[in-house]
Amino acid sequence: MKYKRILLKLSGEALMGDQQYGIDPTRLEQYANEIKKVVDKGLEVAIVIGGGNIFRGMQADRIGIDRVQGDHMGMLATCINGMALQSSLEQQGVYTRLMSGIQMDKVCEPFIRRRAVRHLEKGRVVIFSAGTGSPFFTTDSAASLRAIEIEADVVLKGTRVDGIYTADPEKDPKAVKLEELSFEEVLRKDLKVMDMTAFTLCRENKLPIVVFDMNKPDNLIRLVEGANIGTTVS
Ligand code: UDP
Repeated sequence: MKYKRILLKLSGEALMGDQQYGIDPTRLEQYANEIKKVVDKGLEVAIVIGGGNIFRGMQADRIGIDRVQGDHMGMLATCINGMALQSSLEQQGVYTRLMSGIQMDKVCEPFIRRRAVRHLEKGRVVIFSAGTGSPFFTTDSAASLRAIEIEADVVLKGTRVDGIYTADPEKDPKAVKLEELSFEEVLRKDLKVMDMTAFTLCRENKLPIVVFDMNKPDNLIRLVEGANIGTTVS
C-alpha cells in the first residue's frame, strides 16, 4: 500500500450522477463500493463530502438570501450527503462515523480531532461533513484542513476527469493531461487543482494532492496500491 491514511474528497456534484439535482442511488452505491475495497485492505479512510448537488452559498444571492446564510445552507447540504454516504457504506458492512463541523447532536458527532483519529485507528471510515464549519470556505478547503489535522498522507480528490489538464478537457480538445506537478508549477502555470485556500494549506504543509477519476471502477484501490493514476501534486 502506498498510503496508510487517506483523505478522500468527493464533490456533492459527483453524487448527482446524470441527474440535475440531488443524489443518484446508483452512484452512491458505486462510491460506497469503491471505498469498501480500500477499507478491506486495511487503509484508514477519512472522507470530506461536498454539497453542490443540493445547495451552494454562491446561489443564495439569486433567491434573495445573503451569502453567510447561503453558506450555512451549503454546509447543511454536505451533512445530507454525508448521511446518505454513511448509510450506503453501512449497507455494505463498513463501520462509519459521521462528524460535523456544525454541531448536530441528534444525527452526527461533533468534529473532535482526537476522536476522529481514534475512529480511524479502529478501522472506521470517518465522514467529515459541514465543511470547515465556517462560511466563505469550500469543502476543498475543508478537505485540506481536515487532512492536515488528522495527519493524512495524501488528499485524493475524486472527480470525473482523470487528472489535471493544461485546460478544461471538457471544453478544450487540445487540453493535455499532466502526470506529475510540483506546487510551484501549478502556481506558475495557473492550473486549476483546488481553490487557492485549499491549495495553499496543502502547499504550506507539504501535503500531496492526487486528482483522479473516481467514476472509473477500481481507480481508487489501484491508486492506493501505487498505480500511476491521475495527477499528483507534491
Ligand atoms: N461551505 C462553507 N464552508 C465550508 C464548506 C462549504 O460555507 O467550509 C458551503 C459553501 O456555500 C459551498 C457549499 O457549502 O458552496 C457546498 O460546498 P462545495 O461547494 O465545496 O461543494 P462541492 O462543490 O464539493 O459539491
